[in-house]
Amino acid sequence: MSERRSRPRVVTVVGNRPQFVKAAAVSRLLRERVDEVLVHTGQHYDAELSDVFFDELDLPAPDHYLGAGGGSNLEQLARMLPSLEALVADLAPDLLLVYGDTNSTLAGALAARAGGIALAHVEAGMRSFDRAMPEETNRVLTDHVSDLLFCSTETAVENLAREGLRLGVHLVGDVMADLLLASADRAESCSRALEERSLEPQRYLLVTAHRAGNVDDEHRLRALVELLESLPLPAVVPLHPRTRTRLARLGLAERLAQNPHLRIEPPLGYLDFIRLLRNARAVLTDSGGVQKEAYLLGTPCLTLRERTEWVETVAAGWNTLVGLDRDRALAALQRRPPATRPELYGGGRAAERIREIICAYTGAP
Ligand code: UDP
Repeated sequence: MSERRSRPRVVTVVGNRPQFVKAAAVSRLLRERVDEVLVHTGQHYDAELSDVFFDELDLPAPDHYLGAGGGSNLEQLARMLPSLEALVADLAPDLLLVYGDTNSTLAGALAARAGGIALAHVEAGMRSFDRAMPEETNRVLTDHVSDLLFCSTETAVENLAREGLRLGVHLVGDVMADLLLASADRAESCSRALEERSLEPQRYLLVTAHRAGNVDDEHRLRALVELLESLPLPAVVPLHPRTRTRLARLGLAERLAQNPHLRIEPPLGYLDFIRLLRNARAVLTDSGGVQKEAYLLGTPCLTLRERTEWVETVAAGWNTLVGLDRDRALAALQRRPPATRPELYGGGRAAERIREIICAYTGAP
């Protein structure tokens, strides 16, 4: 640590929706003991995927905005790296903190390594074992260059051990769970998401889909559309811009918009989304975060993928992998959820544990 600093300096790199959610859980606590510099890569730049989270979740405004969104994964990475390299050189932080598995995560990790800065990774050790997912590459590479690896689950710790990573590994629980547990009641009292849509609890479904593997391939996107059209209950579908663009390109957006059972909407703010999730009969999603949140809220989840990193939710019987198979989805919707829901993901104290470990590591007073 530099001699003149009274507190350690931590640079946090975020860039997309789930990272804003995760950082919202950690930043406030971390700032009690360290000087955090928040860098937004601009990976998600739409107001509906970015600004709303800063406003609603009390996430401090970014200190630096890199404007590196758009283009392919590698184009984004190539734009982020020189800016991050310069920032790291300029700020000389004591630690760089990244979240999850996106281009911003990997860019932050590479910039830390190149600058000789200690690296901490939140949500380390998650594996879907599907190397076709760009996120899987980001996870594996980031873990292997991290000094502090914060794991959400026991399974994540085991995954790291299998890859020979044992040093600096900490089972802390899940920071998304922290935020969810702290926000669920606020969402119930503040959000008008059900009333505005004249929805009754348990009488609708919620759907999100945006994974490249589902929406970038025409055949799979058409399968998703057919699945949506066959749902037995009305469904709220807050569409990620990526999905919206792909649907429009194939002329499928109009077809979905005309279906009276489907409410095709822009992405929602966190509190509205959480309230809709809590009260839905079930959620259909290819999101990682939403699988966890559904579990924590006691909403059955149908995951629109063949594999998941959140295996405990499947083992507990609350999450069913259905791919984009209509029959599997309809069968899963018929099943009753289990009577029990064991506590997973750290009980809402992950961020506190992360702060303590970072403070000990950086020598914070
Ligand atoms: N989310 C939201 N509005 C929406 C859809 C999702 O606020 O319309 C939140 C959700 O509650 C979760 C996060 O966004 O906290 C998940 O983000 P996403 O599905 O984009 O990322 P993933 O978890 O798949 O990486």
